Order: sequence, then structure tokens, then C-alpha cells
Amino acid sequence: MSDAQPGIDGDDAVYRTLLESTKAIPWKIDWATMQFAYIGPQIEPLLGWAQDSWLTADDWATRIHPEDREYVVNFCISQSKAGVDHEADYRALTKNDGYVWIRDVVHVARNEDGEVEALVGFMFDISERKKSEEKLIALQKELEALSFKDSLTGVANRRKFDASLDLEWASARRSALPLSLIMLDVDFFKQYNDCYGHMQGDDCLRNIAQTLSLAVTRPRDVVARFGGEEFVLVLPETDAAAAQHVAERCKKMLAKLQIPHERSTVDGVVTVSMGVGTFDPSGEIGAKRFIEVVDKLLYQAKQNGRNRIEFASL
Ligand code: GH3
Ligand code: MG
Ligand code: MG
Repeated sequence: MSDAQPGIDGDDAVYRTLLESTKAIPWKIDWATMQFAYIGPQIEPLLGWAQDSWLTADDWATRIHPEDREYVVNFCISQSKAGVDHEADYRALTKNDGYVWIRDVVHVARNEDGEVEALVGFMFDISERKKSEEKLIALQKELEALSFKDSLTGVANRRKFDASLDLEWASARRSALPLSLIMLDVDFFKQYNDCYGHMQGDDCLRNIAQTLSLAVTRPRDVVARFGGEEFVLVLPETDAAAAQHVAERCKKMLAKLQIPHERSTVDGVVTVSMGVGTFDPSGEIGAKRFIEVVDKLLYQAKQNGRNRIEFASL
């Protein structure tokens, strides 16, 4: 064989060099026997399993992470039977009990009669890409959490309150179960800041927020900072009696903190006023109006001497 006229063997050698020098790992499975006709030697440095240990399709299947195995094997079999080229991402097990993320790109080769003859493909190591994807997802989650979190107190922010009230309002309408809202405002907080300083004021708000979080028990309850020194509690599937109970628990737990407030004419300690409303989903009232009414109850609590709770069922 001369260089000028490369024969079949020469081409084979070129192809082999090409196949075995790329990072992607080529392979071929004979469809009739489900045996590997070929797998590139690059498989060993990547996964640790020797090239000659890849005999049958079972060797491939058993070296897939158990959580990915069933789905990937079923998917590849059904696509191959249908004669459709396909690709699958999965975690391939390594000999030393680790795993590597692989993208397997598969071509279904047919004979002249159109029958499936073999599967040929390339395995790509996509670990780096997966790592960046996972990092991105974690970052997105963090960002999402932050965008719903009040940065001072760590409880939900106004945005989260708006979103969860929308959601719970619709849910209450569907389920016909009552929804309660507690609005809470710190008494004489301006004087607190004036007396103890803004930093201590911030500490006080954090303390109150944390206590309110401890006072609610159901996973769907939301404690949010409505703004300034006002908080709001969304209590789904909660009737007036239960909401009253929660409000009183909040009041009691906050009183227990005994945060000194010498300028408060109420008690010498930090106190709060609350409005508590319960929404009857069979009624006509809208969410916006509901908030206004509860806010008015809070105002009444202030008018009636502070450190107290006003209720209404709507
Ligand atoms: P009332 O009993 O009627 O509620 O009187 P108040 O003084 O609490 O009410 P007002 O609304 O006049 O004052 C609220 C104060 O809350 C004024 C503001 O400086 C303070 N405040 C709002 N947000 C923050 C905050 O993030 N940190 C601190 N330290 N203070 C805040
Ligand atoms: Mg206020
Ligand atoms: Mg206040």
C-alpha cells in the first residue's frame, strides 16, 4: 500500500487513529447479539473499566448509576427498536465507586433492507458541564430565596407576602376553607428608635420576627415583614377561633421577651397591636379589600389603647 493509493487497511488505520485520539469514546453494539463489537480504549482512563471488560449491553447497563439505569436503558431500547437516533445523559459508574456524567449519542445503523443492524455511538464526558449546571441551579435557588426574603429580619418579604396571599386566596376559594390574616405593628417604635438608637431598633425587629416565626406551626403559614415595623401572618385553612388563638400566642411569646422600652406608655416593654381577620370564601370580598379591613382593625387596636388584638370575620 502506497501513500498515494491508500487501501482499505490504510483507511481503517486512519479511522482508528481518529477514533482513538478524540476525547469522545466511540463504541458499537451488534443488534442481534447485543454484544460490543467495539469500544474505544479511552474508556479505561475515564471509568477505570478495562476495554476488554465491555462485552455485552448488560455490562453497559450495570455500569449506569442505579438512579439513572432503568430510565436510560428503557429509553435507549425503545428508541433503538423504533430506529430513532437518540442521546441520553446518565451517570456512568467508575471502577473506584465514583461516577462520571456521560452524554451518549447513539446512531441506529440499518442494513440494506432497513433492519436494525447495530448501534453506534459516542460517549462524551460532560462532568464539567453538569457541575456548572448544578452550580447554576443552586445559584438560581439562592437568588429566588433571597428575592423572597426580607434582608433585615430573614422572614418573608412583601413580595413573598403578595405572592402567597394570591395563591392562598385562590386556594381558599377552591376549597371553601377560611383564610385568616394577622397584621401586627410595634407600639411606639419611633420612640424606641429615638431612645435606644436605630441599630438596637433593628435588633428588636429581628427579635420580633424570629419570635413570630416560632409562634406559627403549620408549614403553609407565612410570616412576612409588611414594611417598617409592621408584620403580617398568612394563615391558610384557619378559622376565626384558630386565628385568635395564634394571635394570642404571638402576643404572649412577644411579651415574654420583655424587651425594655422605657418610653412606651403601655407597659415599659415592647408591645404590639394586632388586627385579625378571617375570610369566608363564600363571601364577595376581594383580597385587596380584605387587607384594608384587617389594616383598619389594626388601627382600631391602636386607637383602643395599643398592646391589644381586634378581630373580625368577613
Ligand atoms: P404606633 O404605636 O402608633 O405604631 O407608633 P410608632 O412610633 O410605632 O409608629 P410610626 O409609624 O410613627 O413609627 C414607626 C417607626 O418605625 C418609624 C421608623 O423609624 C421605624 N422603622 C421603620 N422601619 C425600621 C427599620 O427597619 N429599622 C428600625 N430600627 N426602625 C424602623
Ligand atoms: Mg407602623
Ligand atoms: Mg408602630
